[in-house]
Amino acid sequence: MDRAKIIEAKRIVIKFGTNILTNEEGDVSLPRVYSFIEDVSKLKKSGKEIILVTSGAVGLGKKKLGLYNTEAVAMKQACAAIGQSKLMSIYESAFEQYNLVVAQILLTEDDFSQRKKYLSLRTTLNKLIELNVIPVINQNDTVSTIELDELYNNMQVCFSDNDKLSALVASELDADLLVILSDIEGLFDSNPKTNPDAKIITVVENLTTEIMTYGESASVGGRGGMKTKLEAARLVTRSGGTVVIANGKTASVINKVFAGEEIGTIFLPQEEMLSGKKRWIGYATNVLGKIIVNNGAKKAILEKETSLLPIGVVDIVNEFKKGEVVSIIDEDEREIARGIVNYNSNDCKKIVGVHSDEIAKILGYKNYDEIINRDNITILE
Ligand code: GLU
Repeated sequence: MDRAKIIEAKRIVIKFGTNILTNEEGDVSLPRVYSFIEDVSKLKKSGKEIILVTSGAVGLGKKKLGLYNTEAVAMKQACAAIGQSKLMSIYESAFEQYNLVVAQILLTEDDFSQRKKYLSLRTTLNKLIELNVIPVINQNDTVSTIELDELYNNMQVCFSDNDKLSALVASELDADLLVILSDIEGLFDSNPKTNPDAKIITVVENLTTEIMTYGESASVGGRGGMKTKLEAARLVTRSGGTVVIANGKTASVINKVFAGEEIGTIFLPQEEMLSGKKRWIGYATNVLGKIIVNNGAKKAILEKETSLLPIGVVDIVNEFKKGEVVSIIDEDEREIARGIVNYNSNDCKKIVGVHSDEIAKILGYKNYDEIINRDNITILE
């Protein structure tokens, strides 16, 4: 019943992790990759729209150079450049056997965070899908500055791994389904590596805060772990899509998932779907500025979905410009929402805790009563 959503899905994003594309020696596992490509081609020919998100560039580059340790950022960036062309040549030549055309797309966090770029990316991806092409997406590690730029020290970046990237792509394209294939079976009720009695959860109807805590740290080889996969699932299910997390090492995994077999964990779409703009505000931008709010404002935002007024603000952290997305934080330092600010950080600081009637007197102008309008707030559940 729950798995019907998979069979009905028309627009599908599939993410391959490094650990399933390579073997124990770090070489490309050609039998596995070719079998994925064969199954994806079959899906494509049955009328589905397919977008691939693939890791593996750093790993393959590392292997080509005979390196084992690539923790230095510049080395990882160099490896990504070396491995990416290898990765693409495999996809391109294998899909050609099925008369399918692929397109390489390399993305950084700024491509989502800047709304103009985000919209332009969406147009291009839609055009490629319309042309019957399979977009093959990876993070552009070679130019990504996340690990280098000091500015990012305080910043919450929209993605730094391919799990979250695949979710951003699925949400941006209104995909019906995201399939994340890695070397884990799915979501367990406790850590299967330390608890032999851990049980796999086959269906998650509601990705509650409690279930979010089941996530743990990154897996070896890739950058994501169950935590990033759950964050990915949260974004996609709030965007009206379904998510499946399954083990890419299981034989014929793609065929099994699409036959509706009960493997992996399926996360069902949430009833209340976020609008495109609210998805972007809540999940697709890099966030630096923070607005700390009192309990009254927190309650009003969470329970009544109200705007944020200066009177409910207790502090402003970091600098931001008018029109940027900031975090709304409660007094226990928990991020409760994100929103687009109507005033820059300097002006916000001057009106902390005041009644909206006083804004004009204090600032010498007033464009809005609210610091953030309710239409520009996304509650993070
Ligand atoms: N972009 C990286 C690569 O291709 C992988 C990132 C990740 O593991 O999430 O190697």
